[in-house]
Amino acid sequence: MPGKTTSVPCSVANAGETPAKKRLKFADDNAFHIEVKRRVDLHMTSNGRRERDCLQMYLKTAIILTAFVVSYVLLVFVASTWLQALPLAVLLAFATAAIGFNIMHDASHHAYSTKGWVNRIAASSLDLIGGSSFFWHWKHVVFHHNYTNIHNFDTDIDLGVLGRFAPQGRRLPIHAFQHWYFWILYGVLVIKWNLYDDFRVLMRGRIGEHRYRPMRGSELAIFIIGKVSFFTIAFGVPLLFHSAGAVALFYLLIAFITGIVLSVVFQLAHTVEEASFPQPQTPGHMDQAWAVHQVETTVDFARKSSVAYWLLGGLNFQIEHHLFPRMCHTNYPFIAPVVEEACRDFGIRYNVHDSFRQGIMSHFRWLRRMGAARDAAPAVQSQCAKSN
Ligand SMILES: [Zn+2]
Repeated sequence: MPGKTTSVPCSVANAGETPAKKRLKFADDNAFHIEVKRRVDLHMTSNGRRERDCLQMYLKTAIILTAFVVSYVLLVFVASTWLQALPLAVLLAFATAAIGFNIMHDASHHAYSTKGWVNRIAASSLDLIGGSSFFWHWKHVVFHHNYTNIHNFDTDIDLGVLGRFAPQGRRLPIHAFQHWYFWILYGVLVIKWNLYDDFRVLMRGRIGEHRYRPMRGSELAIFIIGKVSFFTIAFGVPLLFHSAGAVALFYLLIAFITGIVLSVVFQLAHTVEEASFPQPQTPGHMDQAWAVHQVETTVDFARKSSVAYWLLGGLNFQIEHHLFPRMCHTNYPFIAPVVEEACRDFGIRYNVHDSFRQGIMSHFRWLRRMGAARDAAPAVQSQCAKSN
C-alpha cells in the first residue's frame, strides 16, 4: 500500500520506549509478517511447544552459571601456576560470553519468561559481567532491533572513526586496514565497554544520536549495584589474593577473549556481504515493511550445528530472532524451516551461511570492501543483493 506507513511493531518497541527524536516509519504492508506469525504459531501450538519458560532454558542457565562460578573460584582461590590459571581464564571468558548470548540476551527481549521479574533478574546478569542491562535494552532491543542496519539509526553499525560498517558511512584512510585490525579491536572494545562506555552514556544521556528515557529509581539501583558487583568480582576479590599485575593481566585476557567471541558472533548476523543496508527513501520513511526489512538485513549461519546453537544462544538463527524476538531461543531451530518457507512463498531473500567459517570469511570480505570502497551506496548494495 504505497504511501501508507506504520511505526515499528510493539513486539519490539514497548509503548513509551520509542526514542524521542529519531523515529522512522516502515511501509504498512504487513502481509508477510501476519502470515509468518500465523504459520509459526500454528507450528508451535500443534507441536505443544511453549514460547517462553522452557525447561531447556532453565537447565542451560544452571549449566552456564555453574561453569562461570566454578571457573572463577578455581582461578581466584585455587590455581597456583600459570598452567592451571590459563585454561581456567579461557573457560571463564567463554562462560561470560555464554551468559551474554544465552541468559542476558533472551531476558533483555522478555523471551526468557512470561514473568517480568524473572526476565529482569536474568537480564541483570549483564550487570554482573561488566555491562548495563538498562543501556543494553536501549542500544540493542530498541535501537538495533527497530532499525537494523539503517545508517544513523542502528547504533551497532556506528563505529565512529574506528571503522566503516555500512556503505553510507564515512570512509577514512585507516579503514583500508579494518579487515585486519578489527579482530583485535573487538577484544579491546569490551574492555572499553567495561571501564568507560556505560559511564559516558550515563553522563551524556544519549546512545549515539538517540536519547534514551532517564533511569528510574530501581534501574539506577541495579546499575549502581551491578557496577559495584562487577568491579568487586573482577578486581576487588582477586586483589586480596594476587598481585595487581597478575589481576590486571588476567582481567585483560578474559575480557579480550570475551570481547572477540561476543562481537564476532553478533557481527556475523548483519555486517556480512549478504545483508542489506537500506536507507529511508524519503526522510523518516522506509519503503519496505518492517518484517521484510528484518529478514533482508539479517543472515543466519551454521544452522545444522547443535554446538553453535547451544553455545551461542540461538544467535546463529538471527532471522528467526529478529522476527520473533520475544520467543525463547530454544525454539529457533524448530521454527526456522517454517520461516524460510514463508520467505520463499513471499519472494523474500532468506540468507544463510552453512558454517561459522563461511560467516567469518564473509564478514572479513565485507570489512575489506567497506574499507576500500569509495563508490556510492547503491553500487555497493547491488553487489550484495544475492539470494540463497
Ligand atoms: Zn536481540
